Amino acid sequence: MTVATSGRGPRVVVLAGGVGGSTFTAGVRDEVAARAGALTVVCNTGDDLWLSGLRIQPDVDSMLYALADVKDRIRGWGRAGDSTRVSAELHAWGVGWDWFELGDLDLGAHIARTSWLREGLTPTEVLARLQARWQLGATLLPMTDAEVDTHVVLPDGTRLHFQEWWTRHRARLEPEGFENAGIDTAPPASGVVEAIRAADAVLIAPSNPIVSIGPILAVPGIAQAVRESTAPVVGVSPIIGGAPVRGMADVCLRVAGVPCTAAGVAGQYGSRAHDGVLDHWLIGEEDAAECDTVAATGVVAHVEPLWMSDAARTRALAVAALRAAGI
Ligand code: GDP
Ligand code: CA
Repeated sequence: MTVATSGRGPRVVVLAGGVGGSTFTAGVRDEVAARAGALTVVCNTGDDLWLSGLRIQPDVDSMLYALADVKDRIRGWGRAGDSTRVSAELHAWGVGWDWFELGDLDLGAHIARTSWLREGLTPTEVLARLQARWQLGATLLPMTDAEVDTHVVLPDGTRLHFQEWWTRHRARLEPEGFENAGIDTAPPASGVVEAIRAADAVLIAPSNPIVSIGPILAVPGIAQAVRESTAPVVGVSPIIGGAPVRGMADVCLRVAGVPCTAAGVAGQYGSRAHDGVLDHWLIGEEDAAECDTVAATGVVAHVEPLWMSDAARTRALAVAALRAAGI
């Protein structure tokens, strides 16, 4: 696979999860396009699952829909204007999970994906086909073609798919840890390492550090490519004022023993100078007092408004991240 490039502007790589990651990436996409650059997005596939015979990729689809501008902006996920007739029918037959609703348009994507997988295409090739439908202004890559779905391990040894824990139990069952079976031998998807090596900036989106960015960096070779990149690496804190903006990232951080603070997440990623992945870390104005703690880990802290409450603020955050990267 060739790395997308216009040949003129900056080559930017974003590592991202779903809702927070895709919102941020849409801002980066607009900014990179304005500079005639090229954007590659490495998407978390840890959330993926088989359900009702279909392969579902929640974070990949959030990214696809956000960049195509067809996402449901109110819910923050799924397709705008979707209906749930097919899901209701499946539930009537007792197929799938009755607490897990998939929109009809969304199911169209899952059926297309699954049929291409059954024809023998790799997940990377399938994602190339899915994104070809729209002018995304970015190349989306899965982190790996291997199936390394995140499971939650409970204290009694029970394993639940991450989606069941997150959506059905709302992260209320206290887990012992998270597991991505097979990730230690999962090869990065074609183009991922190449894009990171060729990048002028590597950005880590404000995504869940444990179950979105964590799996991406756990794919052998990806963290190493980030560490060895000649490009500055800039992360954006998903924690503002000691809390995740939305979702239950605080529970994930607690399980991993990471303080639910901007500085805590910076410490989890670590400085490139000390075997970590970060050079720069954008933290909220609310957390300005944590600058020294971040600096002590060897990462340069930048205080910026981190709320992506509308397109203008999101774009401004993208500009700030690129500025921190020196572009
Ligand atoms: P998921 O896969 O759908 O959980 O989405 P991600 O992992 O990409 O992102 C989830 C994280 O995004 C949450 O833990 C939030 O902390 C973060 N987030 C959501 N909205 C914002 C925002 O406006 N600003 C920042 N800085 N982080 C946000
Ligand atoms: Ca996710």
